[in-house]
Amino acid sequence: MNQSLKSKRALVTGGSRGIGAAIVKRLASEGADVALTYSSSPERAWAVAKEAEALGVKAVAIQADSADPEAVVAAVERAAVDLGGLDILVNNAGIAVMAPIDDFKLADFDRIFAVNVRAVFVATQAAVKHMKEGGRIINIGSTNAERMPFVGGSVYAMSKSALQGLVQGISRDLGPRGITINNVQPGPVDTDLNPATGEFAEVMKKLMALPRYGHVDEIASFVAYLAGPEAGYITGANLMIDGGFSA
Ligand code: NDP
Repeated sequence: MNQSLKSKRALVTGGSRGIGAAIVKRLASEGADVALTYSSSPERAWAVAKEAEALGVKAVAIQADSADPEAVVAAVERAAVDLGGLDILVNNAGIAVMAPIDDFKLADFDRIFAVNVRAVFVATQAAVKHMKEGGRIINIGSTNAERMPFVGGSVYAMSKSALQGLVQGISRDLGPRGITINNVQPGPVDTDLNPATGEFAEVMKKLMALPRYGHVDEIASFVAYLAGPEAGYITGANLMIDGGFSA
């Protein structure tokens, strides 16, 4: 594995499982020291941190509910202290609640917005205080920002569409400082959130050019590329990696 991220310091939110855990391990395998947040699974989070450490880097797991802005800021500060600075922020933590408009609860609307959107803003605001030229912010959005072809996904889709505008705007704020921000928009990826088995998965596959679920490592390698030195001219972009779901 190339070591293009050697001596970089990265924070990945929601790194205990799924796409986030794969990103943590991929960044570590390319030489980055990593901090990861989790909400409710310390054992899994520390297991991911240990796997990263075994690759020869520093790794730390931090409990922080993304719905709580103070906890998010505290996690960024702790990551910067523990790793000695911050070069890369991956805003990955996200949740989904599916229900049609007649049944959708306002509390679920607020929680989705807090975790999927507000926490991205809060973490980015806190992280850029520590970043120098060459800093990288990568958000995990969704192909559903562009296409929501089933019932019940309105608020989840809204939250991921909101990231598009946020990324475009922040890229203008940070461009003069040489810091990039991009939005990676996966299609269906096999995780606890969206298992590649069952009836729902069959519906999803019929909507895709490549009729299969993505693997977490396919998202992680794309994120590592965006975090690396070769991606310095990409910013403000909403980048689809979705097996042709939106084609
Ligand atoms: P998982 O449910 O498998 O994992 C979610 C991760 O986020 C876990 O580490 C979890 O921590 C953490 N997390 C959840 N809620 C919070 C919170 N309130 N505060 C802090 N951490 C939290 O999800 P995926 O890996 O599938 O999804 C990751 C991202 O990718 C999300 O933003 C999702 O919207 C997006 N995405 C996923 C797709 C898919 O098909 N899987 C497709 C498109 C986008 P803990 O273990 O402690 O609960």
